[in-house]
This record gives sequence, structure tokens and C-alpha cells, in this order.
Amino acid sequence: MTAQPIEELPTDVDIETQEFVGWSVPSDAALDSIVRSTVATKLLDGLKNHEQIREELRRILSQGLDDGVNPVTVGRTAQKALEDYLQTTRARMVTIARTEMLDAYRQGAALTQQANSEVLAGWVWMSSLSERTCPACISMHGTVHDLSEPGPDDHPNGACYRMPLTKTWKELGFKDIPEPSLVVPDKEQWFESLSELQQKQILGPSRYDLWVNGQYPMSAWATSRANPGWRRSYIPSPAIPLKHKRQRVI
Ligand SMILES: [Zn+2]
Repeated sequence: MTAQPIEELPTDVDIETQEFVGWSVPSDAALDSIVRSTVATKLLDGLKNHEQIREELRRILSQGLDDGVNPVTVGRTAQKALEDYLQTTRARMVTIARTEMLDAYRQGAALTQQANSEVLAGWVWMSSLSERTCPACISMHGTVHDLSEPGPDDHPNGACYRMPLTKTWKELGFKDIPEPSLVVPDKEQWFESLSELQQKQILGPSRYDLWVNGQYPMSAWATSRANPGWRRSYIPSPAIPLKHKRQRVI
């Protein structure tokens, strides 16, 4: 599949105000692999001194993570520092900074969770379930993944996070303790509770019509896309009749 221009992908957050609250510490490994973004790669491809520019971009993002600076500020700093070499907008640079910095935090969370595998059964894809959340992230909400699986691999400017899923008391060897109920909001229930207008705004008119007719089930709203030079990302499935997809949900 060809890369989609970043402007056509959903933006699930107000990036001017979003902050990384409650994220784990970004990992060193993640910092090392930072700046793999399709967007950054595309920007840098074909430039004579692209290795130098990539290195500088990596340095600015790493510095931002170390100092706990908001990605909007980091993106603006990067755009200013590299404006003589890169033809790009400030908005695009903020998207790169935000997406890469968030991925570093996610990898940090993944490593912490993997280190606690004796008490964890996996992780749950959590999305914010707001009117800004795109169909792909809504569909992935509540799905259960192996601890070894990276993610959540949402699109640039996504806002999802991985919630650790603890083993049950029974799995831990305690037979007589009642299992607590999990507090993961039900995505189907949530979407049904919205007004028609809100549902249309999230899905767009074509997807909405298909959904109303039962031809666009929520389980099939997300499509995994391979991005050469970057990680895979889940984006909204096209507005065509789809079949129910089997999901491992909580
Ligand atoms: Zn999304």
C-alpha cells in the first residue's frame, strides 16, 4: 500500500493542549530508534546531507524527552533549527515530534510491562473514546494483545495507550478470591449512546450509511497498514462493505 499523506490521516487529539500525563518513562532503546517516521523519512529522502539532518532531528527530540518538554514546543524548535535544510511546515514537524516522542513512551511502558510478566497477562489497547477519536482507534479499543507485541500502533497524531492486563487471582494461584470486574468502557455501548450527528461526524457519511445497514461492523473499522521505513499503523478501513472481524476483546 502506498503511504498516505499525513494531512489525510485522522488527528485524535488537540495537539496544542495535549500533555503526556501518566505515561511511563521513555526507554533508552526507544530513544535510540527514534525518528523512523514515514513522514520524517519522506522529508529526508533525496536530501544530500540527510544523515546529518536526521541526526540533528534525533538529538532535538531526545533532548525534548530528557527535559520533559511538550512535543508542540519540541516540534517548533526542530522546525526552526532545520528550516534552512527542510521544506516543511511547523504543523508537520509537530506531528513528527509528537508521534515519535509518544512512541518512545509506549516502548518504555512495554519494557516495564514485559519485566512484570509473572503478574501480567497482556495489554489492552485503550483509546480515549471521544468525539475526536477516529474509527480505527475506536475499533481497536479494548482489544487484548500479548505482552511481547509492541504498540498500540496507531496512526500519526493518535492518542492511544497500552493498559497492563493483570492475571486473574485464579491464574496467580488464589482460588477463593472473587475476581474484580474490569473498568474498560464498552466501545459499542459508547458509540450507540452518541447522537446521529456525532456518529456521522466520526464515521463520515459513506461509512455511516454502511454501518447503519450492517455492512460496516465496528470490529472491522481498523486496517493495519505497513509503512516502509517506519512501523505499521492502524488506520480507518475504507468505506466499502466489510465483514465482522474476530477480535480478542476484554
Ligand atoms: Zn485514531
